[in-house]
Amino acid sequence: MIFVIAEHRDRKLKPITSELLVFAQRVSRDFGQPITAVVLGADTGAVVDELKARKIDRVIAADHEQLAEYTPDTYVDVLKGIIEKEKAFLVLIGHTTQGMDFAPRLAVALRRPLIAGCVEYEKQGDRLILTRQIFNAKMNMKTIPRGEPPYLATASPGAFPADEVESGGNAEVVQIPVEFRRSPQRKILERVDAPKGQADLSSAPIIVSGGRGLKEKQNFHLIFELAEAIGGSVGASRPVVDAEWLPREYQIGSSGQTVSPKLYFAIGISGAIQHLVGMQSSRCIVAINKDAEAPIFKVAHYGIVEDLFKVVPALTKIFKDLKQG
Ligand SMILES: Cc1cc2nc3c(=O)[nH]c(=O)nc-3n(C[C@H](O)[C@H](O)[C@H](O)COP(=O)(O)OP(=O)(O)OC[C@H]3O[C@@H](n4cnc5c(N)ncnc54)[C@H](O)[C@@H]3O)c2cc1C
Repeated sequence: MIFVIAEHRDRKLKPITSELLVFAQRVSRDFGQPITAVVLGADTGAVVDELKARKIDRVIAADHEQLAEYTPDTYVDVLKGIIEKEKAFLVLIGHTTQGMDFAPRLAVALRRPLIAGCVEYEKQGDRLILTRQIFNAKMNMKTIPRGEPPYLATASPGAFPADEVESGGNAEVVQIPVEFRRSPQRKILERVDAPKGQADLSSAPIIVSGGRGLKEKQNFHLIFELAEAIGGSVGASRPVVDAEWLPREYQIGSSGQTVSPKLYFAIGISGAIQHLVGMQSSRCIVAINKDAEAPIFKVAHYGIVEDLFKVVPALTKIFKDLKQG
């Protein structure tokens, strides 16, 4: 059995859950293992319905008011109980802030190996080999988990395409009674949302990013206008943030956010490795840079070697005209 630990917020699945389901559906085909999605929360009906429509075998729902807010203690407590009762082969968790928080604790509680930040897998005979990225994504490392399953793995956001998740299933839904074996050691005092108007870049399908090539803060309106015309979110390289043209939340890269949109515009960005590691898994990368030798062109699918001050307003006009037409 492959377990997918669903991540959700405000009664909706987060995009990472669909990515985990794609991972699970591929492993399921190769290893002939059924899939169970596990949902922990309070009032999980809508999330269970979303999962039920996916091509999986079962949804386990642990519904309890004490699970309304995530804490690592309650998650590990409940998940350990569920996984120990089953003949689990693989437990898939998102390599997100939440997943990175509870996955190691769960692995310790189950005394099973955890392979963190997986981006791919392969089958060699009966063995599962998991690939993870190391050294700021400069190298891939293949790992064969030792011992008997279950194996735990977290999957990096963007590694598996969420839009390839197969639907059309009619999964069995099992509501399990929730019992806590120990009282939680932590509680959430307050949840602070990001300021309004600021997109969550980690799940944005289109990102228009600007770099130092914009020259000064006043010119960044070009990036915002293109983003608006194309229905995208705005991102930035680190110098833009260091110069306080934009707040830190916009920064993409090794010390900023990791993103994997369908479309990523890199405008006036050279393509330093610290920027690339945060965006190179984007499905389609379009680079605009006046320097044909800029490293960004090594990862770009489409490149425009030109002055951004000419190209960006022209592109914005084209997208605006397309919308009106
Ligand atoms: C520990 C550490 C962590 C870091 N973390 C990050 C991170 O998270 N994210 C990040 O982005 N960086 C990070 N950096 C910084 C990184 O090394 C680069 O310095 C940075 O990414 C460069 O930003 P840039 O491409 O905007 O600027 P530059 O490297 O200065 O590139 C500007 C580009 O704009 C082009 N350009 C200029 N004018 C025009 C024009 N008129 N039209 C078209 N193109 C033009 C130039 O040809 C050039 O390629 C980090 C560095 C360190 C040491």
